[in-house]
Amino acid sequence: MPTIYTSNFSRVKLLPAEVVPVSIARWPPRTWKGARCIDLAPPVELLRAVKTGKIPIAEYTERYRAHLAKLDPKAVAAKLPPSAGLLCFCPPGFYCHRRFAAEWLEAALGAEIPEYGIGREMLVPAAAAPCTDWTADMLPWRTKCDHCKKSVPSKLGDPSMLCPACGKTFQLEWDRPA
Ligand SMILES: [Zn+2]
Ligand SMILES: [Zn+2]
Repeated sequence: MPTIYTSNFSRVKLLPAEVVPVSIARWPPRTWKGARCIDLAPPVELLRAVKTGKIPIAEYTERYRAHLAKLDPKAVAAKLPPSAGLLCFCPPGFYCHRRFAAEWLEAALGAEIPEYGIGREMLVPAAAAPCTDWTADMLPWRTKCDHCKKSVPSKLGDPSMLCPACGKTFQLEWDRPA
């Protein structure tokens, strides 16, 4: 079985040389020339429905899980490079199909699929994530601003934080290279 990580397009350069980046986005960046695993990408009609607000996030996640349930995880994994980094656009820790796919593969393969460079403790398990609204919940982590000491929403994987309360910049420590 391959060694699998997850990450996103903007962090792809952090991956070690032996890890082959594999897009699992339905629509990868225009410039993407790398490998793709289309099986793990959300179906077009599902993505359109959620992006246009026709279905709520809860229904999207349920239907994406139903899509996964139709696949054979071992067959999907067998088609990946020996060491693969599964990529979509979302920041690390975001409640999105990348973590759902990773957790689905973890359950089937019995192996951990880490978000590259991010400790497991920083990842809300997708199955337990209380997200009902991407806009409100895309940043479930809060951190204390170095300057004004207010608790502000913070994005995993983005070490430079612009404090929305005081407008000053500070560095987050949890973005550590593995
Ligand atoms: Zn995503
Ligand atoms: Zn501040």
